[in-house]
Amino acid sequence: MTFIKGIVRFAGLIWPEKCLTCPESSVVRFPGRMCPDCVKSVKKIQVNTCSVCGVGLEFEYEIETGDKYRCGDCRLNPPPFEEAMFALRYDGSVRSLVHSLKYNSERSVAPVLAQLGEDRLVPFISRWPEAVVIPVPLARSKLFSRGYNPSYLLARSLCEKSGAKVTEGALRRTRPTKPQFNLNRKERLKNVRGAFAVHNPSAIKGKTVIVFDDIYTTGATVIECCKVINREKPEKVFVVTLCRA
Ligand SMILES: [Zn+2]
Ligand SMILES: [Zn+2]
Repeated sequence: MTFIKGIVRFAGLIWPEKCLTCPESSVVRFPGRMCPDCVKSVKKIQVNTCSVCGVGLEFEYEIETGDKYRCGDCRLNPPPFEEAMFALRYDGSVRSLVHSLKYNSERSVAPVLAQLGEDRLVPFISRWPEAVVIPVPLARSKLFSRGYNPSYLLARSLCEKSGAKVTEGALRRTRPTKPQFNLNRKERLKNVRGAFAVHNPSAIKGKTVIVFDDIYTTGATVIECCKVINREKPEKVFVVTLCRA
C-alpha cells in the first residue's frame, strides 16, 4: 500500500464516506461512492428496444446483437439521426444523482454517473473513434450561474474511456428555453425550436457527430440539435444520452 492510499484508508476509518444517494448509509464501497444497495437498484435499459429511439418494444423474445428493430413511430417518422443509445432508466438513485449534478452544483457526481452507464455507452461511442461528440449546450445565463454544463462533464468522463473527442462550442444556444419537464411533447418541440445554431461548421462538415445529452424524454432537444447539425452536411449523426425517461 502506498503512503497516500494509507492516509486515505485511515481518513475513511475516522470519517466514513456517506453513500451519495442514501446519506443515512455510511457503508460506502467503491466503485462509485454508492452503497451496494443503491448500486443494485440502478435500472439499466432493457435489451428489447427500438434501435433508433430506444423505446421499449412490445414483445418478449430477446433481440440478437446486430438485429435492428424499429418501432412504428420511427418507421413512419424517421428522426434526424441514425441511432440513439441510452444506458440508464431515469429513476430512483439515478434520478437523484442527475438532480444533484444539475441543480445542486455537485459536479463530482458526473464521473459516478458516467461509471454507471459506461458498460453500454463506451462501446457504442468507441465504434466511431473519429467522431466529434457535441454536448447539448446550455444558455449562456445558465452556464454562468451553474459554472459548468452537466452534459459536457458526463460526455468528457465517458469519452476519456472511448477516445472520442468532445467539442464544446460547435453548437450554441441562441436563446434560453423554459425547463422541459412539465411540458408535453408538442410544447417541448415548440419550446426548443430555433434555440440552437451551429457556431463552428468546420467541426461538423463531413464528420461523424454524436450529440450528447443527460436525459432523453421525448427527444425534442436532441432532435432540434440534430436538425441544425444536419444542415452542415455531417457524414452521420448519432445521439447518446446517459438516461432514458
Ligand atoms: Zn445508498
Ligand atoms: Zn423508435
